[in-house]
Amino acid sequence: MFRILFLLFIVASCIPKGEEKVTSSGSANPNAPSRWPLGTFPKTMKFSNQFTVAELAELQDAAVSWTTHAGAGTNFIASATAPANLVNDRSNVGNLDSLLDGVFAVYKATSWHNDLPNSALAVTQIFGVRRNSGDSDEYVEIVEGDILVNYDDFPFLPEENGGYDLFTVMLHENGHFLGLNHTYNFNSVMYPSIGYSTFYIKPGSFDISTIQSKYNISGGGGAGPAAARRIASVETAATRDDVLKSGKGVRITMELHAHGECVHKIDGTRVGSHPVKLK
Ligand SMILES: [Zn+2]
Repeated sequence: MFRILFLLFIVASCIPKGEEKVTSSGSANPNAPSRWPLGTFPKTMKFSNQFTVAELAELQDAAVSWTTHAGAGTNFIASATAPANLVNDRSNVGNLDSLLDGVFAVYKATSWHNDLPNSALAVTQIFGVRRNSGDSDEYVEIVEGDILVNYDDFPFLPEENGGYDLFTVMLHENGHFLGLNHTYNFNSVMYPSIGYSTFYIKPGSFDISTIQSKYNISGGGGAGPAAARRIASVETAATRDDVLKSGKGVRITMELHAHGECVHKIDGTRVGSHPVKLK
């Protein structure tokens, strides 16, 4: 029997707590794309030291897969091999805002965070700064991304006999890390539902063309000269301080869920939902 999973997409400003809070001004456009500033790849990804050797191999493969398939000259996610790429697990940190720490990591959450729903298989959390607010070309410039995998509530291959394929889940989450949103295009790993029987082996052709366009990669087409000029004009990379102090900071949480519908929230308020279908 297929298990149908669903995705909850949340654009939220963070709960104010202490000094280092992510502030948010105005209303976010829930459909605004997100991306890293051009010319700042590769992003170095670290992994929780809680992962097993077999799991680390899957994480490593999923990290480099986007580069491998996006073509020569791209280098999206870099990762050393263990133990250089291992970090202490921070998935159960008190305040999720604290993950804005300059370390881009995949955490093995054996104790799922209280502020995240137990029905979430995995979460990609992105911190960024809004650009061109209110304009048709509004987007979120990514400053940091982290991925939490819910080992508290779900089994994952390769270590479990049955469960969700870790490589497949990570290929999808890395797509979010790079700024991809969901799509119903069948040539994509960003389809908003996966099940026990879903196995992706590489990014889809739709994903590759989307990411090539997003980052103005030669041969990808899409962006065009006008868009390129517009992007270039705001290309100075934002910092952690910009997220915390600019008034344009935003935290986007993408949660891969195991229940009934895709819910969209802005600043904690539900603005819409729709059913999602099994691929
Ligand atoms: Zn997703």
